[in-house]
Amino acid sequence: MDIVKVYEENNGLLRGHFLLSSGMHSDTYLQSEQVLQHPELATEVISQLLPKLKFFEFTTVVSPAIGGIRFGYELSRLLSKRSVFTERVDGKMTFRRGFTLGHKEKVIVAEDVVTTGRSTKECIAAIEEAGGEVIAIVSIIDRSEEAPDFKQPYMSLARVLVKSYEASNCPICASTGTAAIKPGSR
Ligand SMILES: [Zn+2]
Repeated sequence: MDIVKVYEENNGLLRGHFLLSSGMHSDTYLQSEQVLQHPELATEVISQLLPKLKFFEFTTVVSPAIGGIRFGYELSRLLSKRSVFTERVDGKMTFRRGFTLGHKEKVIVAEDVVTTGRSTKECIAAIEEAGGEVIAIVSIIDRSEEAPDFKQPYMSLARVLVKSYEASNCPICASTGTAAIKPGSR
């Protein structure tokens, strides 16, 4: 299954001139929820990860909110594991809603798209603080420019090269003269 093609066909991967929430401009925009809004397609895509996880033993899938929630939920459903998520409270990634982890409970982290790995690492820190042990990280798409320095094995289904630029130094602005579009605002 060509994951990039599935994203393209379902408006989950757009090419153009985009304004990111960081203020940077970019030539590519990824939105997994455009793919995951179709439950049967979500199952088809996410089940591609199952062979990669065959040799890992764990009880729970943990996702950082919001982007990772539906991905993590479907992955855990396919694996018959527990699904929980972390979310930011005053900027700090933490477990809420009564979610707990057992002492040294083995978990995997599931995030739909890994960009810099920052939110994944914050999720890992919350898991370790809660007593859990992360044994692997999975994503649908790896769009990192430099491979994130995770301590645990990291697997993804596809790699997408996304070029992002400082707004003041954006070659798409310079060559097209168009304004960067804020994704999701149309
Ligand atoms: Zn630009």
